[in-house]
Amino acid sequence: MSFILQGSGVSEGIAIGHAHLAAPAALEVMHYLIPKHQVDKEIARLDSAFAVVRKEFEALQKAVADGHARAEFSAFLDLHLMILDDPTLSDATRNMITHTLCNAEWALTQQMQVLLEQFEEIEDAYLRERKADVVQVVERVLKAMLGHPGYLPVASRLTGDSILVAHDLSPADVMQYKQHQFTAFLTDLGSQTSHTAIVARSLNIPSIVALHHAHQLILENDCLIVDGTNGIVIVNPDKYVLDEYRLRQSQLELERKKLQRIKTVAAMTLDGTLVDLYANIELPEDIAQVKDSGATGIGLFRSEFLFLNRDDLPGEDEQFEAYRTVAVKMHKQPVTIRTFDLGADKNLKGSEQVAANPALGLRAIRLSLAEPKMFHTQLRAILRASKYGDVRILVPMLSNIAEIDQTLAHIEYAKQALRDDKIDFDEHIKVGGMIEIPAAALSLDIFMRKLDFLSIGTNDLIQYTLAVDRIDDTVAHLYDPFHPAILWLVSHVIQSANRAKVPVSICGEMAGDKQFTRLLLGLGLQQFSMYPAQLLTVKNQILKSNLPDIIPLAQKIIKADQPEKIAALMAKLNDGV
Ligand code: PEP
Ligand code: MG
Repeated sequence: MSFILQGSGVSEGIAIGHAHLAAPAALEVMHYLIPKHQVDKEIARLDSAFAVVRKEFEALQKAVADGHARAEFSAFLDLHLMILDDPTLSDATRNMITHTLCNAEWALTQQMQVLLEQFEEIEDAYLRERKADVVQVVERVLKAMLGHPGYLPVASRLTGDSILVAHDLSPADVMQYKQHQFTAFLTDLGSQTSHTAIVARSLNIPSIVALHHAHQLILENDCLIVDGTNGIVIVNPDKYVLDEYRLRQSQLELERKKLQRIKTVAAMTLDGTLVDLYANIELPEDIAQVKDSGATGIGLFRSEFLFLNRDDLPGEDEQFEAYRTVAVKMHKQPVTIRTFDLGADKNLKGSEQVAANPALGLRAIRLSLAEPKMFHTQLRAILRASKYGDVRILVPMLSNIAEIDQTLAHIEYAKQALRDDKIDFDEHIKVGGMIEIPAAALSLDIFMRKLDFLSIGTNDLIQYTLAVDRIDDTVAHLYDPFHPAILWLVSHVIQSANRAKVPVSICGEMAGDKQFTRLLLGLGLQQFSMYPAQLLTVKNQILKSNLPDIIPLAQKIIKADQPEKIAALMAKLNDGV
């Protein structure tokens, strides 16, 4: 049966292929048999997932003990640990893998059914109600198993046109899929500027989030058309629809190829203003895409991705190698390394946050200052890499003067440690701050006095100004980059920085969205950093723009306070591009 689903397109383009359902959270796991010689490995995979979950629970218990979480939580944790240790789940699952050769996820969900039936027979109504907790524990183990791919790695089950369909994916999950050859991503949950969407976008394949029931409605191997530009999925299309989309796909491909012609052209407006177009990356491997895009620097290296999907922390040498690789490959072009922005939706394994509002909690620089050893290790690694290129340090989520001073003191301390160790680094390394909290935008003078450059993180600036969780699709309609308050704040930061001659860029998603290019140019922005796939489209806009025409309109937009008026002025501004 053919049907259509509508979601929110987060990465443009058209993909045509076959559905592959990601399993973990929904308990709809893959079923397959393993060869006998893989039994030990499969059991080890199961055991390590149990160990991960146990560590998570222990971290949560510690949080309760330290007073960071409500005490009622403790009883609930004890129960979950008890379930985790129940032999029906652990021992019996191992036996089942050994004797029936089914994969670990399959065995575990079968044993979960056995345990649920046992709960069903319990007389005590309270305990009977605990069935939901059993399911939650098993979900956690299954999720942990995603970090320990099985004997049959996902990629080998896939054909060249596989489209991943998931209920939800964390940024860490998507990172894992970087190495797989999916042609598109679909999720039930998520929103435009969630980190999951950002990573999906960096993969440069069509992606749609907030599809609500896609994971339930789409079956494994269904034929799908994914229109990432319009946020539409067509399931099992007929021949005519398929032909139409194949045609559109080849037109898009042609346009993409045409854009390649401007790859080496300088990004200059018609009136001769030169603009820097930089790339956002997550890992050193992304440099290949950066080179393809013609970016002339890295405006945002989200270093926290080096910390995800692993049980340990990356040490100084490992981080140094990653940063050095990027610096060397960029041949003295700017490489802006953001210190780890962990917390909120990007957590170290086993330290998933229990805070009620993690985005307002111990995240980014707050976590760095709370974990000085971890911060010091990273600062040493970045400083060491500064010898190999034009490396800069960018600090996320600064909100007040004390944090700036403490951060600068940490950097000075790391520099002194390297001097003592007789290790070379760039003594004049530039240190910048992200402007992504309204308080920072509103007390800019102090930021400009103490820092060498600014980078506006519009993704968080919108979230924190409008009080809209950027990963919650139920409030995605309120996440409005055109809100007059946002436009005013962005304009205020750009214009104040320009007046003070402090370099300023935007590295949030707004910089890669072509409908904002002219507005930002008109407000005086001359440095944009975005995911590489979008760079040539933005450059194309720049090449067709004339600042004297744009500036008066941009000023009018900032002064407008009615959404209709803003929309009409934006249409006029973007007319003809
Ligand atoms: C931002 O907030 O705009 C930003 C670039 O940082 P991140 O998306 O990683 O929070
Ligand atoms: Mg941010």
